[in-house]
Amino acid sequence: MFFVFDGVDGAGKSTQLDLFVEWLRDLGRAVVTCKDPGSTELGEQLRALLLGKHETPIHMRTEMMMFTTARTQLVQQIVKPSLARGEFVVLDRYILSTVVYQGHAGDLDPDELWTVNRIATEGLLPDKTFILDLPVEVAMPRLGQSLDRMESRGAEYMHRVRDGFLFEARRNPDSVEVVDANREIGVIQKEIRETTGKYMARKSSARSRFL
Ligand code: ADP
Ligand code: MG
Repeated sequence: MFFVFDGVDGAGKSTQLDLFVEWLRDLGRAVVTCKDPGSTELGEQLRALLLGKHETPIHMRTEMMMFTTARTQLVQQIVKPSLARGEFVVLDRYILSTVVYQGHAGDLDPDELWTVNRIATEGLLPDKTFILDLPVEVAMPRLGQSLDRMESRGAEYMHRVRDGFLFEARRNPDSVEVVDANREIGVIQKEIRETTGKYMARKSSARSRFL
């Protein structure tokens, strides 16, 4: 099964993802976890260009293609082989981030980015995406001093990012879960585990009906 954690910077993705993976491993599952962009040699090089501070101009459309290229490599090198072995894959960000950061919040057409990303990933979509939703005013102070290239785009951009995630969640209600991240870490994690438990039970009973 394939799970993704997404949302604005500072929303608690990494925190929740780590706890989620710990839970899956305690349940005896083999779990592979990756950052998108990143987690492959090429992906890490692209990540450094995309998120690091430098003076090299990168057009929004180029930026979108670079994020998407890192994703293609991640899917081919790690995600698909891991899923084929029956392992769980849990990603920190995926397609939605590109649709939102370069589409809804950037100036590119979100639907066009869906099309590009469907091609780039051979249509591989997660079973569930958890969007950790947090008001920008709460998320931004959590980021600390050294902001990356995306985080330094300011509050107005981050408001468009948050709204973009919520828009995409409404469009994909079956696979995208919006989680109120403005609560205690343990409370948020409990809800994510419950949602996942129900999803896994539904999926395994659907499978057994066809056997
Ligand atoms: P992200 O990966 O989405 O950028 P992190 O998981 O790194 O977010 O969390 C950003 C900061 O906020 C960290 O310092 C983390 O400890 C803190 N944090 C995460 N979740 C919560 C929460 N529910 N309440 C308060 N602080 C949190
Ligand atoms: Mg993080």
